[in-house]
Amino acid sequence: MTDNRDGAVVRLSHGRKAFGDTEVLRDISLEVNSGDVLAVIGPSGGGKSTLLRCLTLLEHLDDGSLAYGDLEVARGEGGRAVYARAPELKAARERFGLVFQNFNLFPHRTVLQNVADAPQVVKGAPRGEAEARARELLAQMDLAGKEDLVPCELSGGQQQRVAIARALAMDPQVLYFDEPTSALDPELTQGVLRAIRELAARHMTMAIVTHEMAFARDVADRVVFMDGGRVVEEGPAEQVIDHPAEERTREFLASY
Ligand code: ADP
Ligand code: MG
Repeated sequence: MTDNRDGAVVRLSHGRKAFGDTEVLRDISLEVNSGDVLAVIGPSGGGKSTLLRCLTLLEHLDDGSLAYGDLEVARGEGGRAVYARAPELKAARERFGLVFQNFNLFPHRTVLQNVADAPQVVKGAPRGEAEARARELLAQMDLAGKEDLVPCELSGGQQQRVAIARALAMDPQVLYFDEPTSALDPELTQGVLRAIRELAARHMTMAIVTHEMAFARDVADRVVFMDGGRVVEEGPAEQVIDHPAEERTREFLASY
């Protein structure tokens, strides 16, 4: 077996998170290797969004270790997670992007500005360069010609593709998606799934929380099934989805 450790873009070990008395993540470990697509599936309330929020530093773990490549973000020590200092956290934030269920675009900025703003503000990219790259990414997302519209003039599927272009504009090493199509009609869903498939074909490293099982099986290299704040089962996509080993996974998949 090859040792993939050097290829891990992100690694979480023994992650724990509680809100008050509610334990939401209970000893979660996972890693995403460079060029891999990981799908995270599981019932509502199982902790999937909290997992992504901890991986993207929107929430802090209570315990466990988190690293982006060689960059240590948090270290489990004496039963709690000790976080790195602000400069390291800022560096870590530049390594990932996050696409939300509800797009979260800036409503009063144009499509082009939504994509081109952050590279200028956060990375000091020259405006011309940021806009040229934004146009390229929008074309890649099948949105050429929409640059000057504002988000409310687009369909939900188009807005979500703008959100993906915006995340890509920061050149992340890994892109996270939290149920990117669950706010969309079936026909709009397909355009967004197609865009994500194309990114997978270009070997973009991604971790995707999704309820689209056929999509997960096709696109993901590995699937994690989460329930009750735990990883119940993990493995190659066809194995977990077509031949789950755990009764709980079978039960969950039977509802699709
Ligand atoms: P999923 O995304 O799998 O549906 P979540 O991570 O959203 O699951 O939620 C897991 C559990 O954590 C749920 O019981 C939810 O109510 C609880 N939870 C999530 N966020 C918070 C919060 N900020 N405060 C309190 N409880 C929360
Ligand atoms: Mg969720």
